[in-house]
Amino acid sequence: MLSKMIRITTVLLLTALLSALNFNAYARVNFTEQEQAYLKEKSKITMCIDPDWMPLEKIEKGKHIGMTADYISIMAQKIGVPIILQPSQSWAESIVMAKARQCDIYSLAMETQERRSYMNFTKPYLSIPLVVAAKTNEFFIADFSSLKEKKLGVVRGYAFGEILREKYPEMTFIDVDSLHQGLEMVNHGELYGFIGTLVTIGYEFQRNFVGELKIIGKFNEQWELGVATRNDEPLLYSIFEKTILTITEKEKQKILNQWLAIRYEKVVDYGRLWKWIVALAVIALFLFYRYYLLKKYNAQLEIISVTDKLTQIYNRVKLDEILEQQEALFQRYQQNYTIMMIDIDFFKRVNDQHGHQIGDQVLIEFSKILKDNIRNTDIVGRWGGEEFIMISPKINLNDSCVLAEKLRRLIQDFSFSSVNTLTASFGLSERNNEKTLTLNDLISQADEALYTAKKEGRNRVILYS
Ligand code: GH3
Ligand code: MG
Ligand code: MG
Repeated sequence: MLSKMIRITTVLLLTALLSALNFNAYARVNFTEQEQAYLKEKSKITMCIDPDWMPLEKIEKGKHIGMTADYISIMAQKIGVPIILQPSQSWAESIVMAKARQCDIYSLAMETQERRSYMNFTKPYLSIPLVVAAKTNEFFIADFSSLKEKKLGVVRGYAFGEILREKYPEMTFIDVDSLHQGLEMVNHGELYGFIGTLVTIGYEFQRNFVGELKIIGKFNEQWELGVATRNDEPLLYSIFEKTILTITEKEKQKILNQWLAIRYEKVVDYGRLWKWIVALAVIALFLFYRYYLLKKYNAQLEIISVTDKLTQIYNRVKLDEILEQQEALFQRYQQNYTIMMIDIDFFKRVNDQHGHQIGDQVLIEFSKILKDNIRNTDIVGRWGGEEFIMISPKINLNDSCVLAEKLRRLIQDFSFSSVNTLTASFGLSERNNEKTLTLNDLISQADEALYTAKKEGRNRVILYS
């Protein structure tokens, strides 16, 4: 951004400096003696223009202004004879005046067959792109054949209307009275597009159609415009032809820059493209967000569905799933595992003496002891009521017994809130090589061992045998 600004500033400064140095230093024109004699005798050159053709030219308060006015003033200085405006009300009137020899030159005109009968035409000094204007919601067009079926307006009597009709016979051109009228018709949908020069359409856009119309395409042909001189004074033609050739590119550029605020940009409607990109991005983001939320909810749901609400350890659902997994692993790889049934001793008393809420609190504390003192490969969950189950993969009955003893002692020594001492009984079974055994058999074995532990006086670990 900053570097761009510096670059623009530099260019502007250099342009200003160069134009200051060159000021009034127009290149000399080498006129023949004949031409010089002619000019001396002529003493002034009269000129007709189009009185309403901005920014090319216009008569404003009797004065010639616009791009051609700047060109003509350069030419007058080079020629050394004043060029005097012969005012008219319209281009049509200017044509009449030129034919009647009331003016020596046209400031700017395109050569046509008809006009050659009374005027000579110099080499062009202005070459203007011919463009199509349409409503803002139309797309940019690259190929004019796509406009075959569409009505396109042109100003009546303009040279390029004649030329385009000849060149594109299959297209529909509609004559209109003026540029302004043509653009109004486009704006109201009576015409699809309007053909004109980039500069004049651009000029009108900025004044009367801001944001309503845009340029949707450009014809390959440029509109070439030069000075036209009365053909009964051929020296006039050679004088202007020579003069125009001495106008430098820089002088032309300076005039262009001064009058052309709008630039033609060949773009494929990026504005619309961006709108689509943004819209799609918003939709994609929305879908992505929904997907993210769903995933999050699903993950949460999955956790909730396998967690015991009170103790926050695995519930029966998850325990059943894990038992089946372990059984499958055993069936396939003979990977053994043990089951540990844990039941709190005399829990009814806790409820009876302290109330159900304290009972719940004890269950929470009890679960925490189990959870905090197992290997991370062991799985512990609430089997129901005050009964818990632990599944220990890849472990034999003796090692499981050591773990159970450790837990039993921890529970026995733990100071539960309100209750103080509490014990639990443990029943253990192991998945061994006995193929006839089922998962239910294994659970029953652990249950049986637990029952034995209760029977033998509680607070103890019993292995199924
Ligand atoms: P034992 O040593 O023979 O196991 O005696 P016990 O009192 O623990 O006997 P039992 O297993 O038959 O009784 C379990 C009691 O646990 C019954 C029920 O009131 C209580 N209980 C079950 N679930 C909950 C619970 O979620 N919260 C509370 N506070 N009490 C529960
Ligand atoms: Mg019980
Ligand atoms: Mg019990």
